[in-house]
Amino acid sequence: MAAFHVIPFPADVVRAARSQRVDPWGGAARFLPAADRSAPCRHCMSGTRPGGDLLLLKYSPFAADSPSPYAERGPIFLCGHDCAPYATPSRLPEIVTTRQVNIRAYDAADLMLYAHSHIADGQDAGDVVARLLEHAGVRRVHIRTALHGCFLCEVQRAP
Ligand SMILES: [Zn+2]
Repeated sequence: MAAFHVIPFPADVVRAARSQRVDPWGGAARFLPAADRSAPCRHCMSGTRPGGDLLLLKYSPFAADSPSPYAERGPIFLCGHDCAPYATPSRLPEIVTTRQVNIRAYDAADLMLYAHSHIADGQDAGDVVARLLEHAGVRRVHIRTALHGCFLCEVQRAP
């Protein structure tokens, strides 16, 4: 099966959200102090602890100038304060493997390839992603939460 790597979450988006409380479009990044829930941080790609501070903001994993109708924006969480970037990109992170996920494949024009969409248990997601990336037409795979449809991470073939 194809080796893959998890694309790091952009550090500039994290910095702007934490220091200026803005999303990539200049909208508000909401600071949620002492949140009573855990949330999947897209930067360290771990679940936060209940009672910790969170940031909630709008994000898109697509290029800002993507003409694709599938290049949607949606809500993500980040740790409210400094956290380390995800360090093992050859493996899917805990925020994927611990929940049911929606897996979507996209071609080079950012068009979603409907025949390759899956709902999977997170523990099986690595196998699904590796198989999808064996298809020449698949450029990238996005993993989202199954229940709420929120973007978790992007995966591509290992370089
Ligand atoms: Zn984090």
